[in-house]
Amino acid sequence: MKRLLFATSEARPLIKTGGLADVSGALPAALRGLGVDCRLLLPGYPAVLEGLAGAGEVARLDLPGHPAARLLLGAMPGSGVPVYVLDAPDYYVRPGGPYQDTHGIDHADNAARFGLLSRVAALLCEVGSPLDWRPDILHCNDWQTGLAPAWLHYAGRPVPTVMTIHNLAFQGVFPPAWVNRLGLPPDSFGIDGLEYYDSLSFLKAGLYYADHLSTVSPTYAEEIQREPLGMGMQGLLAARAATLTGILNGIDDTDWNPAADPHLPCAYTATDLAGKGHCKAALQADLNLAAAPDTPLFGVVSRLTHQKGLDWIIQVAPGIVDRGGQLAILGTGDKAVEAAVRGLVARYPGRVAATIGYDEGLSHRIEAGADIFLMPSRFEPCGLNQMYSLRYGTVPVVHATGGLRDTVDDGVTGFVFDVTSAHGLWLAIERALAAYADRTTWQRIMRAGMARDFSWERSAREYLGLYERTLAG
Ligand code: ADP
Repeated sequence: MKRLLFATSEARPLIKTGGLADVSGALPAALRGLGVDCRLLLPGYPAVLEGLAGAGEVARLDLPGHPAARLLLGAMPGSGVPVYVLDAPDYYVRPGGPYQDTHGIDHADNAARFGLLSRVAALLCEVGSPLDWRPDILHCNDWQTGLAPAWLHYAGRPVPTVMTIHNLAFQGVFPPAWVNRLGLPPDSFGIDGLEYYDSLSFLKAGLYYADHLSTVSPTYAEEIQREPLGMGMQGLLAARAATLTGILNGIDDTDWNPAADPHLPCAYTATDLAGKGHCKAALQADLNLAAAPDTPLFGVVSRLTHQKGLDWIIQVAPGIVDRGGQLAILGTGDKAVEAAVRGLVARYPGRVAATIGYDEGLSHRIEAGADIFLMPSRFEPCGLNQMYSLRYGTVPVVHATGGLRDTVDDGVTGFVFDVTSAHGLWLAIERALAAYADRTTWQRIMRAGMARDFSWERSAREYLGLYERTLAG
């Protein structure tokens, strides 16, 4: 396996709306570190054109049903990963984000915009590609590149494809007229093809036609084969179970390293934990929590939503305070949840602190200064914060779902609860508090978490294995 085209609609540090951008920023670089000639294909949004100002034209494209476009070749800032930019200003240069306008409304021509991205991803794998560089395998990500495996199917499958689900909630569903407008054969619109409840679904197309499927944790790969997490795709995913793999995301271990984190007042390591105590004291002072080195301090950094189990956290908060604990919350989200969080602060001054907003520095200081990290998500495809917590020696209490189940070992590196309720969370908190009371036990759990490997290199090796299996057919 030498050449890989990684087609994506966002990649850090150029353009990010969600976890897909983190994966697209980190995985190709890690794969190149393993000797794979991995290159990105990314739409030319304004931020991408600005970030890759030196990119030069390598091809002109004139595809039926789309405006004339160009391919530019640049290098990703930081990692130097080669990026093919699909420069189609009519489609991608406009105000707002990659998918929505400045009012948060989906761009009306998203089917055309990502139809072109998918078409070009496939074209670069075909004999008729305008480039000399042709990949051995195509890796598609989420619905925005979902039509590429369909195009390759109709081109005689010149290379195999892997399709990764980062967010199953977004399925790229459009009226059936788009099948014709995008130039796809009419007979592709059927249950064995692009059709999804009488509409066209880009994601369904990818899930149906790709040679291999993956998602971002082994447990989530199982969960999406059933209701409710299958979100309508469970039948197809269950039918394709033999070709569906879960691979955990990595974390950026340069950004998230307690031994060298510029956001922290004090550095620490697993062998020298003294600095963590200083981080806790500084956090308590910073958030107007009572100065109390031995009080268990619970941290939460999260979108404040139902998915993340914030209602359960609000229900257990009085119990935490009753037990002498403190709670520090950082997040934004649903207005009702924000109001409930503010209510806790008013009720328990000096015991509960909340910052409503997005604050990267504070997120690092909570990860470092807290003793216990709460992440009771109802579902969690992979999740990052529990991995940051483990690396920072902040023992996670998590719900047994998706990537949380796959990254936290109950009683070894953290506490995992199965019972899907606030009471389930509370019982796990009680177990955590009992362990916290014994210093030797607690340090053993902290150090076990800090020793875990969540590097991108580990993930990249798993992807490499998946590509090799896919190529072997
Ligand atoms: P999701 O992508 O579902 O929100 P993850 O755990 O996968 O959940 O990733 C969340 C990311 O966003 C983490 O990097 C986390 O630190 C960060 N984050 C979430 N809310 C905030 C906030 N209010 N301030 C700073 N960082 C935040």
